[in-house]
Amino acid sequence: MSKNHRGKGLYSLPSRGRGTCPVCKATRIKVLYALLTQNDDKLTVCKRCRNKTVNI
Ligand SMILES: [Zn+2]
Repeated sequence: MSKNHRGKGLYSLPSRGRGTCPVCKATRIKVLYALLTQNDDKLTVCKRCRNKTVNI
């Protein structure tokens, strides 16, 4: 379970796991973390947003 979002495993992901975070709008950040919204939707966000509660 450790280091799931590091190293060569990222190379197989689209854009190597990078993109724009839908929560904080940071660009070219690693967007890898599954976040559950209040509507029970799954959202992938950056590490800065993984513990946030979002209402989108
Ligand atoms: Zn973010």
